[in-house]
Amino acid sequence: MPSPLSEPQPAARASVERVHDFAQKLQQPSLWPKVVDYVRWQRAARAAKANGQPAPDLPDLAPLSINLDLTTACNYKCDHCIDWDILNSKVKHEDQELRDSISRMAERGLRSVILIGGGEPTLYPGFVAFVQFLKQLGLAVAVVSNGSRGDRLLQAAPFFGEGDWVRLSLDAGSNDVFRRMHHPSSPSTTLDEICSWMPKIKAVNPALQLGFSFVITWLGGSRGEVKIVENIHEMVMAAKRASDASFDYISFKPFLERQADGAEVMDPAKSAAELRAVIARIQQNLSEARANVRPGFRVLASTNLRVLMNGTWRDYTHQPRVCHMQMLRQVVTPLGTFNCPAHRGVQKAMLGGKELWSVPPAAQHATAKLLGDFDAQHECREVTCLYHATNHWLEELVQADAPLPDAAPGTEQRDWFL
Ligand code: SF4
Repeated sequence: MPSPLSEPQPAARASVERVHDFAQKLQQPSLWPKVVDYVRWQRAARAAKANGQPAPDLPDLAPLSINLDLTTACNYKCDHCIDWDILNSKVKHEDQELRDSISRMAERGLRSVILIGGGEPTLYPGFVAFVQFLKQLGLAVAVVSNGSRGDRLLQAAPFFGEGDWVRLSLDAGSNDVFRRMHHPSSPSTTLDEICSWMPKIKAVNPALQLGFSFVITWLGGSRGEVKIVENIHEMVMAAKRASDASFDYISFKPFLERQADGAEVMDPAKSAAELRAVIARIQQNLSEARANVRPGFRVLASTNLRVLMNGTWRDYTHQPRVCHMQMLRQVVTPLGTFNCPAHRGVQKAMLGGKELWSVPPAAQHATAKLLGDFDAQHECREVTCLYHATNHWLEELVQADAPLPDAAPGTEQRDWFL
């Protein structure tokens, strides 16, 4: 059996985008000591259980990376929104309480924050000051935005550093499809207007990576009773637009759905023949897109799209019983703290309130409890989980007999987003 610390196999690597190679990221010198603390605790907790003894306390750790929903407010009504049920809930963060919580986490090992939603992060009244605050703590910061507040992204631009990124969820090549998909509340919000901010942001901070995200939809997809607007025919147009507008890359993803229990799942087509036809169209569009962009501009197929195209997406629904990523990456929202982005807002995946990490022992107890109670093998059996390989790798580390090396097996990439 290969060592759990060896390089991933070539086949696995081909399916996974570098940004989703979390096992490699966790072996960086900057993150490895916390992984060792966690795995040693898991080993000790299982040994104690086997001997009928009480489990040791979780070490003084915090997640290494969080998704932080600054607000549930959104000024769009996207047909394909997977967070539809939790938007505009009127529940809010208290700014100082949130800052205290993040500071406590940073003292315990937090390295990166992705400002994202359930809600549009730039609508948070203190968005710009909050980015500045996170950078002052030395954290890596990323933003996933709908692009409607280019003015606020421009104001925040000077605070970002090397490795930070902003990705806009735009999903269209034309103003018409953009507006029919997203239903922005302001009539002046168009794809042209959003893209016009990008050269200004790049001029202020050329190091900030700008991404254009495109969730591919095709007829047959639905959210409840709402019909999805098709955009598969605009992939090439969107890539050209992104390339011309000073984005650094475009990333294509397949459409995900929320199932009845709240989990975010892939349900790509109603029949195998339909799926084959859709994949052929996507592959053709990807090739054409790559032929029509400026040198250096990247046209990316997301991990979910790669596994859909190579027919292995069902493999990613097989999780170990314990999801170890619950310790290493969590989701903080105004509605509470959750174990995973795929279960945002779902009661059984809730660790505690929004302020959970301002009281570290309570947060660690809640995390230890959910690590025991949440059966990922069952709860995530329909989720195409991007952390699938990393969870199996961590499980192998927990089960292996060999002592863990203190020296990090990997090289430093300064990429701390999980
Ligand atoms: S197994 Fe995957 S989908 Fe399930 S909670 Fe863990 S990271 Fe999330």
